[in-house]
Amino acid sequence: MEFTVSQRERLIELGVRAEDLRGSFTGAAERNKTYTKLEQSRISEGKAQLALFRETLRKPSLCLMQERLTECLTGVGFVQVATPTILSKKHLRQMSIGDDHALNDQVYWLDANHCLRPMLAPNLYYIARDLLNIWEKPIGVFEIGSCFRKESQGNSHLAEFTMLNLVEWGTPLATRDQRLTELAAAVMKAAGIEAYAFEYEDSVVYGSTLDVVCEGIEVASSSQGPHPLDAAWGITDSWVGIGFGIERLLQAKEKPNTIRAVGRSLSYLDGVRLNIK
Ligand code: ATP
Ligand code: MG
Repeated sequence: MEFTVSQRERLIELGVRAEDLRGSFTGAAERNKTYTKLEQSRISEGKAQLALFRETLRKPSLCLMQERLTECLTGVGFVQVATPTILSKKHLRQMSIGDDHALNDQVYWLDANHCLRPMLAPNLYYIARDLLNIWEKPIGVFEIGSCFRKESQGNSHLAEFTMLNLVEWGTPLATRDQRLTELAAAVMKAAGIEAYAFEYEDSVVYGSTLDVVCEGIEVASSSQGPHPLDAAWGITDSWVGIGFGIERLLQAKEKPNTIRAVGRSLSYLDGVRLNIK
């Protein structure tokens, strides 16, 4: 006899690893006793974690990670921007996300002409055009903010997640790959993650792309230009850009049972489930 489905679910939300839930019991009494003991011990640990959190850091890792990465990037000359979460349909279309694009079905529409941004790139493209008229190149810009995608669930997807998108305009053509690797490594170091790999993919149309992967989970994707999309934004310079998922970085670092434990939440605080009276 094994734990019931609801017992398993409860223990997993309390942070017990699925692989530690393979107990086989001779009867319901033994099973329930083991369950109660495990649940109570996780509840005590959760309370201890929350007490420590209240005494010491007082900021959830989601917020701390954003601070660390902001410090890292401003420290290497990048400028932070804060653009609107509400995106116009026109700007989404300028990213070539039309009615038949895969991402189009994942977009949360607010009305006929506005949606919640599924990515930060359109706003960064928009701003670049003006900044390139004002500042000398290269220009490094980044934003950290919420993005929204309708996802068909899973352990690494949130409907509302936090993206860090950095972009450097005016990177010399010949050094783009090297620069991408350098910037990705700087962010991973600031995030405090050592175990990661770069996955390169060659594309005839878009040049090479680089993903950052931790234990099989994509934590970042890069792109570079000149890119076919640039014309729609009036951009002619070469550039490199990388989008990181902050919750994915926390997943790689803290290894929670579910990405929900480290995202924006009503049920978890700093990774601790709150229904532990
Ligand atoms: P995936 O293939 O994992 O769904 P993606 O390639 O569609 O991701 P990108 O558009 O490359 O995602 O977005 C950049 C980064 O944002 C990803 O590498 C990932 O870290 C993060 N990200 C994307 N979608 C989500 C999501 N629904 N929940 C959490 N993080 C996400
Ligand atoms: Mg990707």
